[in-house]
Amino acid sequence: MNLKEKFFLKILTKNDYSDIYKHLIAIKDLEFSSKDKIAEIRKEKFKKLLEAANKTRYWQQIINGTQTQSIEEFPVLTKAEIRANEDELWNRETTYVTATTGGTTGKPLVIRRNTECQTLIKAWLWNARFNYGLKPSSKILFLNAFSKISLKGRVKMRLGRKRILEAFPSNNAEISKITSAINHYRPEAIEGYVSGILSLTKREKIRQIPLIITTGEMLFDHQRSQLETFFNAKVRSYYGSNEIGSIAFECEKGYLHINETHVHVETINDKGEAVLEEEGKVVVTDLDNYTMPFIRYELGDRAILTAEPCDCGRQTIRVKKLLGRNHEFLSGIEGRQVQATQLSGFLKDLKSTGELQFVQKIKTQEITINYTGQGDKCTEELRFVQEYLQNALGATINIQLHHQPEIEKTSRGKQQLVVKIQ
Ligand SMILES: [Zn+2]
Repeated sequence: MNLKEKFFLKILTKNDYSDIYKHLIAIKDLEFSSKDKIAEIRKEKFKKLLEAANKTRYWQQIINGTQTQSIEEFPVLTKAEIRANEDELWNRETTYVTATTGGTTGKPLVIRRNTECQTLIKAWLWNARFNYGLKPSSKILFLNAFSKISLKGRVKMRLGRKRILEAFPSNNAEISKITSAINHYRPEAIEGYVSGILSLTKREKIRQIPLIITTGEMLFDHQRSQLETFFNAKVRSYYGSNEIGSIAFECEKGYLHINETHVHVETINDKGEAVLEEEGKVVVTDLDNYTMPFIRYELGDRAILTAEPCDCGRQTIRVKKLLGRNHEFLSGIEGRQVQATQLSGFLKDLKSTGELQFVQKIKTQEITINYTGQGDKCTEELRFVQEYLQNALGATINIQLHHQPEIEKTSRGKQQLVVKIQ
């Protein structure tokens, strides 16, 4: 990286610049390493993760003095399990940063990460951007979910030739803001959530974008072709989640490669076995989070993994086929949709509505919002939610409010944000 790029990286990364830079160089060095070299690093990290896990009450009970040698011996960790044991899952003696999940399945979760884990996530993402031909000085438009960024932060981003706008525009005015930024600022790339970027395609007159990087959710083929066609762009996907920030990135040949020195990814079949070349649910172990260890965490996606070598030369396991997740969304007039992930991003900052669930009748499209909160503030926030949906789905969609003492769960104990009924 030359001096100019180092300078831009410094502007963008604030205090953690030197750590990000250090990690970035290390990641680059290891990117095409042999399987043995990668295995060696992973082994060391897993040992460290076990030590960290042993310092939390939750994992202590599970490990309970056994000489655990492999990740496969651990039970799968679900979101419900985390919710039920939130206070027991993290080590208070570490220095950490927090992140909140969007809460598609109820109340948001607080995720804690040691600072090194956080800088590693950023470094991995920068590594992917480099692979996609971007540099710290490149003009990038970030579409972030509810990014509350200070004026100082905005000025800094401008100095770094970046722009940040709302990821899930809910009305025409917000969409106009983004399209105008695209047309005037002329970014080399847009980076954001798939569903958010797709919502821009409802608008005409967007100039061509050279590159689109989708983050967060996995990118489905139909979404990729929509993006390619509408923006005439090259599309690359970066796979991560709120709980585990950085999981895999797409290579030049179009495959998602696992960031193996940072996470351990498995697919588990219906018999509970870790499999390759066979469909299974995706579970991820974060090898770098020593504050709140995530061991075999179930992400909610299904995929087929393969260890077959890739033409790009990288030796890691990669996603051969993506089989999707429970696609939860609300439908509106003229084919409009609000995805559960998008809705949860919107709901993230509400304080008084209590738990929420959106039930839509497939036939009439009528929506009932079940809520558990009470009081004036709750009423006000619900009106806000109603307006958002009415804007996004169409004014003719009938939306009712219904107070419930408790939100119903599915037979598997999952509290769905969006439910479709006949
Ligand atoms: Zn590849």
